[in-house]
Amino acid sequence: MSTIDNLPPLRDVISTHGLAAKKSLGQNFLLDLNLTSKIARLAGDLTQADVLEIGPGPGGLTRGLLAEGARRVLAIEKDPRCMPALAEIEAAYPGQLRTINGDALDVDPLEHLSAPIKIAANLPYNVGTELLVRWLTPPEWPPFWQSLTLMFQREVAMRIVAQPGSKAYGRLALLAQWRTDPRIVLELPPEAFSPPPKVNSAVVHLTALPAPRFPADAAMLNKVVAGAFNQRRKMLRSALKSLTPEIEDHLHAVGIKPTERAEQVGLEEFCALARQLKDAGC
Ligand code: SAM
Repeated sequence: MSTIDNLPPLRDVISTHGLAAKKSLGQNFLLDLNLTSKIARLAGDLTQADVLEIGPGPGGLTRGLLAEGARRVLAIEKDPRCMPALAEIEAAYPGQLRTINGDALDVDPLEHLSAPIKIAANLPYNVGTELLVRWLTPPEWPPFWQSLTLMFQREVAMRIVAQPGSKAYGRLALLAQWRTDPRIVLELPPEAFSPPPKVNSAVVHLTALPAPRFPADAAMLNKVVAGAFNQRRKMLRSALKSLTPEIEDHLHAVGIKPTERAEQVGLEEFCALARQLKDAGC
């Protein structure tokens, strides 16, 4: 019996089901159910929400989410070895947990969930950033989710909340900060996981804003930011030259010095530049 439910401790689950961690699947498991419950609480009130969890593994966070009263949880796990362990949780919470054995990149969660939806996950490092970028760039805003509560390597978490002038500042910060309010809400040392990874980890909570902080066309903003940071050491007048030969005039028009480098330019200025270029038909 564990502290949060009537299911066995996670160490027992792992040995009963032979879940030796696989590096290729980014498996670093959380074994402390008090910690997984704490992460579930960081996702906010779950009692009125459906929750999407990616990569439940042996189910530590899944159990935390259910113990915190999630209305329903959809858990998508790639490793078929985890499914019998997850089936035991399903049986303990009848009708509240649905598990799918598959790749999170291929499953449409909206076939199984209804609004409001929160996403919570200890993400596998190999697809974590790709999933985050997908969730941050849906065809329409607001997105299908209210909030994301996600464990990343600390270095990725720092890139999400980074401010201009820092090395970590780049496309991920701008994508996240344009339409969400991202905060680091918990930092974890390697020993919190089994096996311990080589790096520290952090949980980031991102709340979807009802509308972007500053108006801009999403595709144009993405193009400008990608161009600017692909060659982050170059001055903007050269890094963005491929967008238009008149880039210097457009930079001047929105008050950005053409000799500035991308990492000095704030979100509001990037949005202004995206509007200027869109209006100019670039
Ligand atoms: N949530 C568990 C925990 O906190 O202990 C496990 C987290 S572990 C960092 C990442 C999990 O994602 C593993 O169980 C792994 O098998 C799973 N995974 C890896 N790639 C995946 C993918 N493309 N789709 C779904 N699950 C994936």
